[in-house]
Amino acid sequence: MPRPIVPFFSPEEEARIVEAIRLAELGTTGEIRVHLESEAKQDALQEGIAIFRRLGMEATRHRNGVLILLDITHKSFAILGDVGINKLVGTDFWETERDLMQQYFRQHQFVEGIVLAVQQVGGKLRRHFPAHPDDRDNPDELSNEVSYG
Ligand code: CA
Repeated sequence: MPRPIVPFFSPEEEARIVEAIRLAELGTTGEIRVHLESEAKQDALQEGIAIFRRLGMEATRHRNGVLILLDITHKSFAILGDVGINKLVGTDFWETERDLMQQYFRQHQFVEGIVLAVQQVGGKLRRHFPAHPDDRDNPDELSNEVSYG
């Protein structure tokens, strides 16, 4: 997908996010993605649901993908999970992560907020969807790269 003309993250910042995702996914079958959307046409959560599908995030074996969406145009964001993880965590979990990111985003600390949320989601995924770190049967089902749309 095309990157925005004015980059939101520096290459270093983007690398920090990708590395946080990689580390968070060690020891779990769960998958985390971060997406930046500059053409959102609906509220962040509805947009997130559409992007979740567009990115094929429902294709994980355990239905345990998690998407963090930043709606750049409307300065909004959302965090949402697939049905597998939603069976095991309540909406309060997503609200807690959302509030955490909000605190950082208000101070324009976007990378810090995302990295922290990725770490906490990773902890949750390891608890509910553990996998041995050396498990060859634990493929990286969804890319760790930040995606753009
Ligand atoms: Ca991944």
